[in-house]
Amino acid sequence: MNLVSPQILDGQRIAGESLTKLQSSVEAFTERMGRKPKFALLRVGENPASVFYMRRKCAMAEKMGIESIVAVFPVGTPQEFVEEEISNWNGDPSIDGILVQAPLPSAEYQRFIFNAIHPGKDVDGFHPVNMGKLACEDPSGFVPCTPKGILRLLRAYDIPLEGHHVVIIGRSLIVGRPLGLLLQSRAVNATVTVCHSQSRNLAEITRTADVLIVAAGQAKLVTVDMVKERTVVVDVGQNRDKNGSLCGDVDFPAVAPRCAYITPVPGGVGPMTIAMLMENVIQACAVK
Ligand code: NAD
Repeated sequence: MNLVSPQILDGQRIAGESLTKLQSSVEAFTERMGRKPKFALLRVGENPASVFYMRRKCAMAEKMGIESIVAVFPVGTPQEFVEEEISNWNGDPSIDGILVQAPLPSAEYQRFIFNAIHPGKDVDGFHPVNMGKLACEDPSGFVPCTPKGILRLLRAYDIPLEGHHVVIIGRSLIVGRPLGLLLQSRAVNATVTVCHSQSRNLAEITRTADVLIVAAGQAKLVTVDMVKERTVVVDVGQNRDKNGSLCGDVDFPAVAPRCAYITPVPGGVGPMTIAMLMENVIQACAVK
């Protein structure tokens, strides 16, 4: 048993550094265009996690000098109504970026709405054009914020990835799937295994990971027996425990002593996601 304390991958600090670097681009755009960068956010329903994340995104935008507008539709709103709002935003030259907060009422509804966003304003990077660009290693697309933030965090700590085995738990459109594409790209060259709810022998696979990234949304899914010594563990999960406190997918107190590095929850991937969203909004402004 390794009793050396693990290094914490401090997402709060690295996100802060990224945002500081971005500030001059926000100011330059504002001066050049005579207006602030602006993005529009949309939500369907009052899912408490979605309400919370949208508030945090808007608060960070305000702090950075980026304008945000929000539209909220009740559950049951026909897809066409939501599509019409997105279509107005697509055609509005004062709106640089558009974000639709997941989850939407169904997978089909989500696909329809994500596809309605103009790919050039798709700051979350979920439109098939941007997913395709990620798959084709075309750097002109938007890379989804959480995968981009995880890679930035690993790079900031010089975690070796080239030729190393990265195991991802979760294959969602938002995290696991684009993260797999990003890490296997020739810019990173990791050997990637993506696991999901139907994967057999999960622990056997995770024990072969040099880097284990967990995005399942299941508190304490990863236990100490699933991690080999000196693994780098990135916990994307955002769950509520029985006391209502935020917790990840990893049993942190038991797993951390075995790791070389580990992200805390909160303070790991979450702040990186928001910082990368701000970067993507500025990327959307760059073409103007
Ligand atoms: P999702 O529900 O869309 O996908 C979860 C994935 O995990 C699925 O592919 C599923 O097959 C897999 N999975 C679930 N249980 C499993 C199990 N027992 N074994 C193996 N695989 C399993 O979720 P998502 O949108 O990808 O989000 C995952 C988690 O990450 C959630 O807790 C979410 O809140 C969090 N999240 C955090 C951030 C952040 O910025 N920190 C961003 C996005 C999502």
